Amino acid sequence: MGHAGMDTDVLIAGAGPTGLMLACELRLAGADVVVAEQLPERTGESRAGGLHSRTLEVLDQRGVVDRFLAAGDLTPVGHFSGLWLDFDEFQSRHPLPLMILQSTIERLLEEWAAELGVRIRWSSEVTGLRQDEAGVTVELRTAERASTSLRARYLVGCDGGRSSVRRLSGVDFPGTPATMTALLGDVEIPDLPEDFIFMRRCPGGHFSALALEPGVHRVITSEYDRVADRDASVTFEQLRESLVRLAGTDYGMRNPRWISRFGDAARQAAKYREGRVLLAGDAAHIHYPAGGQGLNIGVQDAVNLGWKLAAVVRGRAPESLLDTYHTERHPVGERLLHNTRAQSALARPGAEMDALREVFGSLMVFDDVNRYLRDMITALDIRYAVDDDHPLAGRRVPDADLKTPEGAISVYELLHTAHPVLLDLSGGAGTTAAVAEGWADRVDLVEARSQDDHWPVPAVGDVPAPSALLIRPDGHVAWAADSGALDASALRTALTIWFGPALRR
Ligand SMILES: Cc1cc2nc3c(=O)[nH]c(=O)nc-3n(C[C@H](O)[C@H](O)[C@H](O)COP(=O)(O)OP(=O)(O)OC[C@H]3O[C@@H](n4cnc5c(N)ncnc54)[C@H](O)[C@@H]3O)c2cc1C
Repeated sequence: MGHAGMDTDVLIAGAGPTGLMLACELRLAGADVVVAEQLPERTGESRAGGLHSRTLEVLDQRGVVDRFLAAGDLTPVGHFSGLWLDFDEFQSRHPLPLMILQSTIERLLEEWAAELGVRIRWSSEVTGLRQDEAGVTVELRTAERASTSLRARYLVGCDGGRSSVRRLSGVDFPGTPATMTALLGDVEIPDLPEDFIFMRRCPGGHFSALALEPGVHRVITSEYDRVADRDASVTFEQLRESLVRLAGTDYGMRNPRWISRFGDAARQAAKYREGRVLLAGDAAHIHYPAGGQGLNIGVQDAVNLGWKLAAVVRGRAPESLLDTYHTERHPVGERLLHNTRAQSALARPGAEMDALREVFGSLMVFDDVNRYLRDMITALDIRYAVDDDHPLAGRRVPDADLKTPEGAISVYELLHTAHPVLLDLSGGAGTTAAVAEGWADRVDLVEARSQDDHWPVPAVGDVPAPSALLIRPDGHVAWAADSGALDASALRTALTIWFGPALRR
């Protein structure tokens, strides 16, 4: 029991990728966590099929990326509305998208969560909640359809696009309705002439057939200006009829393993925090899945929230730190909706759109355009508003190679413990050690030298290696200084804002 009268510090609704990542982050930072998942067990279904650069980086920051790399395939391309983006020469140790099924991502996250001591309650659907000054009482419906309740200091809704937690906490979900319907089926097609049909355009929309394994394809049909009732059932027959309308044939598809439907409705929670209730992942934002971003952004929401929520429940930071979760992540979600709306619009059928796509595609040949879109889709260009105008401030720290008296180490290796790091690269010229004393219980002070004079930073270019950096557990730079310019008072302010007041001597 984390606190008097509490069953846990944090209850997470939903054991999808967002909920699992958040649970791991909370455990790493020393918070007690329970995950309540309505399903009795995993379905093995996979909507998502890929991880982007920034997500691979955050997994690397925790020392678990190799598990994911071993279970997927790196690919040199991504796309914007089906128009190819080039992923060469990229300022990251993980430049290429990793093709990996969502079911595998969930299995690997669940294994890691188990190692960290996360408790998952299966067959436990959140059906009610009541907040008071000290915590949240959460009603759960269990397998026997019995009701039980759990008390937690905070509740995080990671319960997907139709989030009960969002509805029960009264948070609005404004946005734009669907303009199209997509049907998806994992089906057998023994003799498809091509293994890879991607967004083939036709009068009513477009279709794809992507090989999953020999003889098995994921067929996706997208029809515009046909919006299905979101609660209506989805059948194999509907998928077949849709494919025939678009492609003129059903390619002999048979034996569906999984059929699903999605659209391009784009909605976002008006608030990511309502008192002791927070929202993350699809519970906070839904959108057209173009560019494969939703799961990635959900995992990154979790990494932004985890250390903050853990610091608050452990009494190391004021509650107001949680508001920065909304101020930092809501704009990221807003941009996600924006770029996926643009991708859905660009995918509409018609001669005018064919022409617009051709123009757009010819612009993407220019390096700057390619880079701009790639940095957005991979989320490597995100900059949070921190009170410091150094070019690195607010951005994700590059995984630079360092030298310490003990040997070589990279910046991300320093983040494996999920502690904040004050990195002094000045070779003893700085005054960081004296300042850091006040935060010695919370912030790791590391003295090292950068192996490179310049660090590559997406959306910025090369910047001179700084002389000191304060890195948050999520890998974003809270404060940075160049040689000769260390301002101890600015460092003290940044330490206090992000990690609470200094220890009393
Ligand atoms: C066709 C398609 C392709 C996609 N491809 C990609 C891709 O390549 N890359 C990418 O990044 N994203 C992709 N996405 C999006 C991605 O699948 C989602 O963004 C991702 O699953 C969101 O994760 P989540 O954990 O937030 O929510 P979910 O995965 O929806 O998980 C929510 C969990 O909460 C549980 N739950 C729901 N209600 C309750 C309740 N009341 N109580 C307890 N538990 C509850 C659910 O059972 C579920 O396990 C794709 C989506 C689609 C439709």
